[in-house]
Amino acid sequence: MSTTVTSASRALDPQTMLQAAISEAELGRSEGGIPIGAALFASDGTLLGSGRNRRVQHDDPSVHGETDAFRAAGRQRDYRQTIMVTTLSPCWYCSGLVRQFNIGSVIVGESVTFTGGHEWLRENGVSVTVLRDQHCIDLMTEFIETNPALWNEDIGVSE
Ligand SMILES: [Zn+2]
Repeated sequence: MSTTVTSASRALDPQTMLQAAISEAELGRSEGGIPIGAALFASDGTLLGSGRNRRVQHDDPSVHGETDAFRAAGRQRDYRQTIMVTTLSPCWYCSGLVRQFNIGSVIVGESVTFTGGHEWLRENGVSVTVLRDQHCIDLMTEFIETNPALWNEDIGVSE
């Protein structure tokens, strides 16, 4: 048996792919933003684009991790084989993006601190993998405790 592992096959491990999204989330936190990151991969594990929530940085509520990664990936001919990896369960807006463009798979870092539309995606034929990554949980738990008003603004909850 060959011991050679290509970088592409390594990248297909959900936890490995999640690292790209976590790096974005940590970058967002260091910028004073909401620590949610995402990355869009091709079926062979090639990173197409990554991004992070930049509501604060850009004063733009439409820049979520998933939408930022989606835009960074540029135009893709077909999204069915792509994999959207996100540190946090996708909100309805980002779940809509997945449906609109027929993204075939979603990997979620955690859905403990927030649960968006990932069950709805699953019911509609999207392959959904929900991890319970402690690093992702810690990032959000710390953020929500420190910035409850900003978090409520991001998820559209009035105080
Ligand atoms: Zn979102």
